Amino acid sequence: MATAISVRNLRKVYPGQPPVVALADASIDIKDNEFFTLLGPSGCGKTTLLRMIAGFEHPTAGSLTMHGENLLELPPYKRPVNTVFQSYALFPHLTVAQNISFGLEMLGKPKAEIRQTVDEMMALVKMTEMADRQTGQISGGQQQRVALARALAPKPRVLLLDEPLSALDFKLRKDMQLELKRLQMETGITFVFVTHDQEEALTMSDRIAVMNAGEIRQIGNPRQIYDQPAERFVADFIGDTNFLPAELIETAGQTATIRLSSGKQIAARAAESGSQKGKVTLAVRPEHASIGPEAEGLLAGTLGEVVYFGTDTHYHVALEDGTGFVVRQQNRPDATAQFSSGDRVGVHFAPGIGQVLKD
Ligand code: ATP
Repeated sequence: MATAISVRNLRKVYPGQPPVVALADASIDIKDNEFFTLLGPSGCGKTTLLRMIAGFEHPTAGSLTMHGENLLELPPYKRPVNTVFQSYALFPHLTVAQNISFGLEMLGKPKAEIRQTVDEMMALVKMTEMADRQTGQISGGQQQRVALARALAPKPRVLLLDEPLSALDFKLRKDMQLELKRLQMETGITFVFVTHDQEEALTMSDRIAVMNAGEIRQIGNPRQIYDQPAERFVADFIGDTNFLPAELIETAGQTATIRLSSGKQIAARAAESGSQKGKVTLAVRPEHASIGPEAEGLLAGTLGEVVYFGTDTHYHVALEDGTGFVVRQQNRPDATAQFSSGDRVGVHFAPGIGQVLKD
């Protein structure tokens, strides 16, 4: 697929004492028709990057092109992008239909075309029946739909979304996540979505850029980000992870041989760039491990808390090397509890399932 937005060595420093490096040399290629997410903790620079694409901020250095055209030479209103903000910024005394048509009227579109587009957009976000309601008198979720319809109405090539779901309650947010994904697929518009919510990013995105402290740490599809985190920050930020001290013995392509603190040697996935021999960290997801009799485990320890969650149970194990380890096992109604707090247990995981991390 062709590249929609190309971000090259983009940098933003806000003046001050000391200056704030909000974005340090970011490079990303966002493809046409892609649902691309910028994910990271508060203050990592996601909004700054989005605002530079929109044209509300000017970069300190670097380049930004869309379909080969230099975006930095264009003022915000001439860029083929539109933005949906966290605060929907609707006109409360205008109706749903009027809010959607407002921007089209500003663009000087013919009346008949505006009417047709407004109808299309209201159908797209399932708000046709509320066309004549003032937006001050509809729910938060409905306002969100109108804000989306309004942003999609001029048919931008790229839609920028800055935490658009964060004001919604949990259930509505889940529904809107699916809705947004549907809208993106139906319209074929490239979405650049900003969130600090890892689950939101994993469920909606084609690809994710994980950011930290102004830097892009990893770009990949949700599976790559979750299963093959490139480094400790990514493994820690996305989902729950156990970190085990280990020694790297050798790497052959994507496979590493490591020695655990118990002395046992196993295969693991190697970090992309090929790690140096010596001390490394092995990341193992709780759901990829199991507990069993001490003699059968890769690592031995003492079982601490056992927490029942309905669908699964979390076993907290204090390993012999002093590391804490959590095992998450699915519950089956026909299984009887085998272990309880205080028992000696073994922790096991399949060869190749752990990921060797760059420290
Ligand atoms: P959040 O999720 O909290 O919105 P973010 O990842 O979007 O965070 P940014 O808003 O891009 O982060 O901010 C990145 C850094 O730049 C932060 O340290 C922030 O304090 C700083 N910053 C943002 N805007 C300005 C500004 N106008 N002047 C000075 N510093 C700023």
